[in-house]
Amino acid sequence: MPELPEVETVMRGLSAVLTGRTIARAETRRAGLRWPFPEGLADRLSGRGVEGFRRRGKYMLMRLSGGESVLIHLGMSGRMVARPPGEGPVPRIAPQGAFSDARGAGDGLAHEHLVMETGDGWRVGFQDPRRFGCVDLMPTAAEDSHRLLAGLGPEPLEAGFTAASLSKALAGKGTPIKAALLDQGVVAGLGNIYVAEALFRAGISPRRLAGTVPGARAGRLVPAIKAVLEEAIEAGGSSLRDYVRSDGEIGHFQDRFHVYDRHGHPCPHCPGPPACTGVARIVQAGRSSFFCPRTQR
Ligand SMILES: [Zn+2]
Repeated sequence: MPELPEVETVMRGLSAVLTGRTIARAETRRAGLRWPFPEGLADRLSGRGVEGFRRRGKYMLMRLSGGESVLIHLGMSGRMVARPPGEGPVPRIAPQGAFSDARGAGDGLAHEHLVMETGDGWRVGFQDPRRFGCVDLMPTAAEDSHRLLAGLGPEPLEAGFTAASLSKALAGKGTPIKAALLDQGVVAGLGNIYVAEALFRAGISPRRLAGTVPGARAGRLVPAIKAVLEEAIEAGGSSLRDYVRSDGEIGHFQDRFHVYDRHGHPCPHCPGPPACTGVARIVQAGRSSFFCPRTQR
């Protein structure tokens, strides 16, 4: 599932193509994805200028002339791919990375649910084979009170996300720190990949109770979260299955994972056995956690 760095990368790509342009034509190919599309979506997009973009957690907001914003969530498998003028329909692009078991591969057009074309011929298609994504419209002035955004915690890359604010959010929590960091109300935008990588860098076990993290451990965790997200954005995100950038290229942060999906490999922080038996994997709340059994406490 795309996490903050992947959403940020897609959004920057779309912004470079769409900001300042007009959506001359829009078309929906089905009634909705996870939820129905807003009434008359295609008509309401057509003829609108694109004024800019904003990301909130794993959501993109495309701001239109006329005071409305389009909320886009990529869900599990969603892609937004932009094609320059003259290149025709957006093809299904399979990732070429080490994890190229592209699910739902095949005819991309069958999975292209929303298409927008600019006046000068750019074409942006929203593909989502598994249809967990969503698209909604709202007044720009009411973005932050949208039902999907209202409960989100702080943006981890903003200055307001500090050891003190995270400590406050974790105080008294009896859940494992991993679960707390996946809770979008504690901090927005993290998922299984970046939580694993940040906890490794901070030397904190994914099993540690969240209520014991405030203080010095939060002081290590906050810069680790910020660093891993910044490095991942720099690398264009992580392409595991479906994720590609808006230009169809894959991201490269999967080549720089320390622990995520690396169980059985030597731990990058440790000298090897017998000191550290390598990256370990456990299952928490039905999802894999990857960590160093020696340095993460
Ligand atoms: Zn280790």
